[in-house]
Amino acid sequence: MSHSRLALGGLALLAALASGQAIASESGWGYGEKNGPAHWGDLKPEYATCKTGRNQSPVNLDGEIEAELPAITFRYDGKVTAIINNGHTIKAEYAPGSTIETNGKVFELKQFHFHFPSENNIHGKSFPMEAHFVHAAKDGSLAVVGVMMEVGKENTALANLWKKMPMKAGEKNSLEMTVKAADLLPENRDYYRFNGSLTTPPCTEGVLWLVMKTPIKISEDQLKMFQKVMKHPNNRPVQPLNARAVLK
Ligand SMILES: [Zn+2]
Repeated sequence: MSHSRLALGGLALLAALASGQAIASESGWGYGEKNGPAHWGDLKPEYATCKTGRNQSPVNLDGEIEAELPAITFRYDGKVTAIINNGHTIKAEYAPGSTIETNGKVFELKQFHFHFPSENNIHGKSFPMEAHFVHAAKDGSLAVVGVMMEVGKENTALANLWKKMPMKAGEKNSLEMTVKAADLLPENRDYYRFNGSLTTPPCTEGVLWLVMKTPIKISEDQLKMFQKVMKHPNNRPVQPLNARAVLK
């Protein structure tokens, strides 16, 4: 390959990286007719669990077993460091050091992001949006806290986040305002607990799911802004519970 061709190749790659669209479509999966949830398991061998898994998320939370679950200890002291549009969702990266503790195990908050409509359902009910707070333990295992979002009064923390929402896939903005994850949690922290998976490829199982029973409120405008920027729903349909129990 000549030097000039090499240089051109490099330029094309840089342009693709800068546009961001290439990054979002590179992985192949999405929410469209051809690359949507029904096809994820066939797109790549690494995504096979999306098709063959028996403990997949999201689910319709129903038939819960009363287990008197101990309270989750939230230690969300940090703040959002950046907000990213990756073409699949809007994701807020979080400063290190914020944790939850459940059943004696500590998980650190890595990021949170959003889906519309909600991915999990509660007793057959879907919500306009759902936030996922993604945590990892030292051993690498994951715990996701799900928070349903319904339309009511404006959420101030979300307003500060949305001010910096990147409009295009591949864009990332830093924040001037301090946005804390705790301001996106309901006051009542009663929850459902079940074992599940990532709700996006590679649909890895072994994820601990903790879904808050109480939704938080966001305004109609806040919902509409997310829908407008995402352009399409970004929820995976509910998956069969199979042998799993939902505890409450
Ligand atoms: Zn999610």
